Amino acid sequence: MSDNTPQRRDELAQALAAVHRRIDAACVAADRDPAALTLVVVTKFFPVTDLATLIDLGVTDVGENRHQEAAEKFAELSPERRDRVRTHFIGQLQSNKASAVARYADVVQSLDREKLVGALDRGAQQHDRVVDVTLQVDLAGDDAGRGGVAPAAVPALAEAVAAAQNLRLRGLMAVAPLDADPAAAFEQLRGIHEQVLVDHPEATWLSAGMSGDLEQAVAAGATHLRVGSAILGSRPTPR
Ligand SMILES: *Cc1c(COP(=O)(O)O)cnc(C)c1O
Repeated sequence: MSDNTPQRRDELAQALAAVHRRIDAACVAADRDPAALTLVVVTKFFPVTDLATLIDLGVTDVGENRHQEAAEKFAELSPERRDRVRTHFIGQLQSNKASAVARYADVVQSLDREKLVGALDRGAQQHDRVVDVTLQVDLAGDDAGRGGVAPAAVPALAEAVAAAQNLRLRGLMAVAPLDADPAAAFEQLRGIHEQVLVDHPEATWLSAGMSGDLEQAVAAGATHLRVGSAILGSRPTPR
């Protein structure tokens, strides 16, 4: 599983460069500044050696979606590499794990219900940390099990996060529904974000776009892209 050969490093470097070219082209098309975009490389299912190589290649933000795996991998990084990377938790969060996630996650992107706010805030307080939070919005509207708060419930959840002592409301996150046009889904997300910004002008982050739809996300104003397979290769099991 572990692979820190020069071949793997080349493979990752080339894939990373190709994704940056896609982002740059999407920015030209949308008349946006690439510096306004953060690439979060999603390393789930891949070994910590890949994570280390990516940090050495200049990756500043990484994402994981399962608590156990995230906790283990981030703990295995050398302190020097750990200090150079911002860690994002992007998976479904269980309330009994939320406090443990607050121990290592710099950002929790997938907060989607009020019950998690207290748990995450308590965990952040226990570890004397402030955790950045984006609310995951359900754009499918059918609760297909991918998580996310219904658009109508976003304002109340935003209030709850903004009121939490050790959480910082940063914005919104969403995954385009499988059967939907990502451009339309991300435009819907942009509209919900504009509403949130009225009451929370600090919540400027919009996390949208993955390997298959990052161009549409850039066009809709995304500030954070979460890209896994286009950089690391296809995962052994479907998510
Ligand atoms: C796995 C995952 C991604 C990355 O998906 P790719 O299609 O591999 O780029 C992005 N966001 C979330 C929430 C994920 O779980």
